[in-house]
Amino acid sequence: MRVELAHEADFDGFRRQARTLLQQGVPPEAVEWVVSGGRAPELFGAQDEPAVMPDVAAAVVTAAPPPRSTLQVPATFLRLASAVALHADRRRHTLLYRLLWRLQHEPALRHDTLDPDMAQTRLLAQAVRRDMHKMTAFVRFREVDRNADGLPTLHVAWFEPQHHIVEATAPFFMKRFAHMPWAILTPERCVQWSGVAGAVLDFGPGGRKQDAPGADAGERLWLTYYENIFNPARLKLKMMAKEMPRRYWHNLPEATLISTLAARADERSARMVAAEPAPTARRLPPHAVAPRASTVIPIARLVKPGTAATVADRAQALAQQRNAAAVCVDCPIGALATQTVWGEGPVGAPLMLVGEQPGDQEDLKGAPFVGPSGELLDRAMAQLGWDRASLYVTNAVKHFKYEPRGKRRMHKTPAQREADACQHWLEAEIALVGPQAVIALGATAARQLLGRAVSVTRERGLWLLRGDGLRVLITLHPSALLRTEAQDREAAYAAWIADLRLASGLAQAAPP
Ligand code: URA
Repeated sequence: MRVELAHEADFDGFRRQARTLLQQGVPPEAVEWVVSGGRAPELFGAQDEPAVMPDVAAAVVTAAPPPRSTLQVPATFLRLASAVALHADRRRHTLLYRLLWRLQHEPALRHDTLDPDMAQTRLLAQAVRRDMHKMTAFVRFREVDRNADGLPTLHVAWFEPQHHIVEATAPFFMKRFAHMPWAILTPERCVQWSGVAGAVLDFGPGGRKQDAPGADAGERLWLTYYENIFNPARLKLKMMAKEMPRRYWHNLPEATLISTLAARADERSARMVAAEPAPTARRLPPHAVAPRASTVIPIARLVKPGTAATVADRAQALAQQRNAAAVCVDCPIGALATQTVWGEGPVGAPLMLVGEQPGDQEDLKGAPFVGPSGELLDRAMAQLGWDRASLYVTNAVKHFKYEPRGKRRMHKTPAQREADACQHWLEAEIALVGPQAVIALGATAARQLLGRAVSVTRERGLWLLRGDGLRVLITLHPSALLRTEAQDREAAYAAWIADLRLASGLAQAAPP
């Protein structure tokens, strides 16, 4: 009996047909599963992922009596089967149907790890899940500017999956890049998302690599960044090849750098080891100062009550606040920090960006976002066409909180009471700079700005409104991206850019 499925990923069709066949008592060896318009079987043999499925159909004798009228299909098996159904091996449906048949009479089969059919099923499911994970990690979007047509920028990627996973993986991208119009082209299926809430994913037939755009400016920045963060002393080629299998390399822009970087790794790490240690720029903690009353100066006094404060008044008031904060000891963090790190940017900046607290470099230099997080922020701003000098960049907490570990100072998240002690400085900056909106970079900033705990993963990409009418856009802190696994970093970065882009209208507005 020839049973036809509508398309390669037609698991629902398979379930429906298999149920009917089982109810009719049709044994597995009597069924031939075919996929309408499916690829020729020999194509799969040519893939560099070895065909994991030996031809066991003939070896397994399924001379069982017809199944009972009530079908026994454990939920765990269904989950496994839904992955296996996406495998490129054309014999997957035969295997699944044979197992379904056997499960009717051998319910314990699902726990049998040695059974060849079950072992095979697990292997196939694993290969499909690995391919799905690689797709989430290795899709690289490039921008297509459609502004001339009044349309938002479209992000297009070319990817070559090993299995029929496009439908199953697309929802991941929809959630991750919820506000960004994108399209992923693959040889078998294409999928497009409009970036509009409530829309549905649009699937279509396969495309060609040349339909996808070539390298863009964002990609050149990414390559420069990749080159700069490549640590020769940490190079583990075997691990790298395992995490980033070579078959994905030809579509990964950074892969072009790997052999050169790897070839130079020994020499670069030898130079690092031989180099003189850089003299520490760190000052000893200032002598302990007894906490004293808060240094809050009421804003009303600073901006001349009863008068419409001019930009110059506000700038002067901001400078006074900065001076007062420089000697603030309202909480204990300051005792260990080198200095207070105040915000930077013009009064009247249309957009303010708020981080958590200064890091090691910021503490030494006395300016916000000048360390690794700042570099990533600068890269994002350059990509978005934002001029940092026209924005106000600051932190919720003005001192670096850390724990000394050997010669290093390890970042420690500020406690709620410490962040609260700093709150009036942040509010003074908001009142005096007068931004039209604020971007909260990470959970600490979001909580201090909104006065409640914020789940950044759930609320990122959203504009929230404060009681005073100020709009706050929630997104990740750049350090979260720096901590992301290397293979997920590019996707996470693109999602972050998509969040930030929501503020582009304001960021690109010149300050008054
Ligand atoms: N992290 C922050 O939140 N702010 C900085 O200024 C640097 C790192």
